[in-house]
Amino acid sequence: MVRRSDRSKKEKFRRKSSGKSKRYFVRDKAGKHHCGVCKAVLHGTPHSKPASKIRKLSKSERRPTALFAGVLCSKCRTLVVEEAAKIESKTKKLDEVELRLRKYVSAVKVI
Ligand SMILES: [Zn+2]
Repeated sequence: MVRRSDRSKKEKFRRKSSGKSKRYFVRDKAGKHHCGVCKAVLHGTPHSKPASKIRKLSKSERRPTALFAGVLCSKCRTLVVEEAAKIESKTKKLDEVELRLRKYVSAVKVI
């Protein structure tokens, strides 16, 4: 009978030195964070740790300090900021911005 706490975990087997195999349970590791636009792996974000451990990290350990850090990669962040600047200088309209970037561009507040 599987313990109630083990029901959500993955079942694995390991061969012991006695020759018998032992059953044990492991929880899946958290995956790496990906960019919201191009799905590239984000740097500077924690992974392979349970959510309870990540929650206990400091803010700067959880994500870098930049615009859309932990959401967009640096390439996409540059694109978004450039598009936001074009809209601010009225050389481009929000309707002309690529649809995949539009929600990030509209969220940028130019001071
Ligand atoms: Zn990206």
